[in-house]
Parts: sequence; C-alpha cells; structure tokens
Amino acid sequence: MTTSTSSHDDVFGDGPLPKIVVFDLDYTLWLVSGERISFFKDVPSIISALKARGIKIGAASRTDAVQTAKKMLSLLHIDDKPAIESFDVLQIYPGSKVTHFSYIKEDTKIPYHEMIFFDDESRNKEVEHELGVKFVYVSQGVNWQLLKSGIEEWRVHQQEYASGAKKARRAARL
Ligand SMILES: [Mg+2]
Repeated sequence: MTTSTSSHDDVFGDGPLPKIVVFDLDYTLWLVSGERISFFKDVPSIISALKARGIKIGAASRTDAVQTAKKMLSLLHIDDKPAIESFDVLQIYPGSKVTHFSYIKEDTKIPYHEMIFFDDESRNKEVEHELGVKFVYVSQGVNWQLLKSGIEEWRVHQQEYASGAKKARRAARL
C-alpha cells in the first residue's frame, strides 16, 4: 500500500510550519504488544512527508529500555531505509522530558516555540508549560488527522508567542 504525499497537502496548508516535529516512541509512534513493536499505520508516510518538506524529525522517549528502542528504530523501516536514518535527533533515556528538549534545542539550535511534540502521556505537557514547546496529546497513536489539528494548534501557539514577543519589545521601548 502506498500513500501519496501530495494527497496530504491539506494537512500542511499555506501557513507556517514548525521547524522540527518531535515524537515520543511507545504508544505514540509505535504499538507495543508483548515482544512485538510496530509503527501505527500512518507513521511512515507522516515522517516521510515531513522530511520532504524540510522539517526535522526528533524522538524524545523516557523509556529505560534504551537499547531496545534504538534497535527497533533500526529494524523498522521508512522509505525502504532503517527508520533511525529519518531522525535528526534522538533523546532516549528516563527522566523529565524538559531535559530531553533542552538537549534537542542545543543540538538543533531551533527555539522551543518552533517545535511541536506528540506524546501519549499528559504528564509530559510540562515541556509546553516550562519551555513553550507546543504539546499535542496522542490517544491512539499519531495519525494524519492528529498531525493536521496539531499543526493548526501550533500556528495559534506560534502567533501568541509572536504577539507576546512584540508586546515585550514595545514594553522594553517605553
Ligand atoms: Mg509513550
């Protein structure tokens, strides 16, 4: 089955796009059932389409099975290549994702408000509260519909950031 990238043009629209899309792994990009791990259906085409638009891809996982996660990213494929090759940045270790994102910012030089993060655990929304990374809650794996609504939410978030920054500049001039 092939999913054409062009059929998802409506997801991206004409507005601004985040510079990096970061994903949690377990129950966000992939489903874990016993020994089996498999990507949710839309994941390969989503990652492929994001990369085609020059958007960077990151993973932020707090699993303690670090080697297993990296091995799975090598075994699973996107565009006929090991999935790990599609990722620009990997942060996989236990602990608060605030740490993961501080390294992602350091690595990529992308500011927090240009990032969007998909995750199935609402406790990780602290990256939005503390850093300003747009957090999108994932209930049944990442899919095209969620990416579309996530990008729309990110644009609102981005505008709020921009008007906040403008207000701060105005205040600084007074
Ligand atoms: Mg998860």
